[in-house]
Amino acid sequence: MTVILSVRGLKKYFDVTEGWWKKEKQYLKAVDHISFDVNDGETLGIVGESGCGKSTTGNLIMQLLEKTEGEIIFQGVDLSTLSKQELRKKRAEMQMIFQDPFSSLNPRMKVFDIIAEPLLTHLNLSSERLKEEVLSLMDQVGLDRSYIHRYPHEFSGGQRQRIGIARAIALKPKLIICDEPVSALDVSIQSQILNLMSKLQKELRLTFIFIAHGLPAVKYISDKIAVMYLGKIVELTTKEKLFSKPLHPYTEGLLSAVPLPDPMLRNKKEGVILEGDIPSPTNIPSGCRFHPRCPHAQEKCKKEEPTFIAHEEEHYVACHFPLKEGVGVLEK
Ligand code: SF4
Ligand code: MG
Repeated sequence: MTVILSVRGLKKYFDVTEGWWKKEKQYLKAVDHISFDVNDGETLGIVGESGCGKSTTGNLIMQLLEKTEGEIIFQGVDLSTLSKQELRKKRAEMQMIFQDPFSSLNPRMKVFDIIAEPLLTHLNLSSERLKEEVLSLMDQVGLDRSYIHRYPHEFSGGQRQRIGIARAIALKPKLIICDEPVSALDVSIQSQILNLMSKLQKELRLTFIFIAHGLPAVKYISDKIAVMYLGKIVELTTKEKLFSKPLHPYTEGLLSAVPLPDPMLRNKKEGVILEGDIPSPTNIPSGCRFHPRCPHAQEKCKKEEPTFIAHEEEHYVACHFPLKEGVGVLEK
């Protein structure tokens, strides 16, 4: 498998110092030194509670935000070394699908213009070819061709997300960052959109980064999953390992928030439900940032920040006392 995207030591700190006279700066550490690889054609799910830095990570990769530190290497090229023009070209190969298709679509533009816009910006097509392209994109995402002159408000949420997807695939990108693309939709519609996305992934050999706040949403579509907490990735592994053998207490907490059909399992998981609020990213706890909420925290956790290391093949975790078999038994 070829690595298509490598993120190394990525940071985004926002200066939130109030008052110019303050000597000591205060930073909101939205993304605080994260590293991961995504292979060509696979889906990396990124999950975590709101404010954990997952959308910021997506926006940094898309170059919509300027990083504080770190490297973003896409198709072997460090994006920060590119000129504006080169970056514009590369950006065509990375697209984004947003959570709220309504606010991400211009209400004054018709479907045709919305889908045609990226084609017009990047390619030089005759008006005939342009119309053909738009119609074929509408076919690919399951939108009726007769809708071509309608406005976004004339569509349901699911159809609007189809328009967003058509627009995102218009330039035949390699990587699509999907920022909670189904969380605003009804459950029945969610699965339709997820099915469409995996169909397109196979047909067009797309790589996805799929951002969501809960594990159920990423379970279906992801090959690997990164769990984020307060700006850090705390666990990263294959979907199978994450669900069968989570090593980080926070992942265990997220899993216990998933309704389990088996009552035996539900009992087993009792007591690990996440308690307490997420601390502010402007005031990150000392040591392991999860320690105030961790049911397994020990003295060491308050003082020393755990490093993000491979615990076994393809299973990275940042915890001093990783769980055994995901049932809360601590290792010495
Ligand atoms: Fe919990 Fe300590 Fe592991 Fe942090 S390092 S997750 S506090 S056990
Ligand atoms: Mg978000």
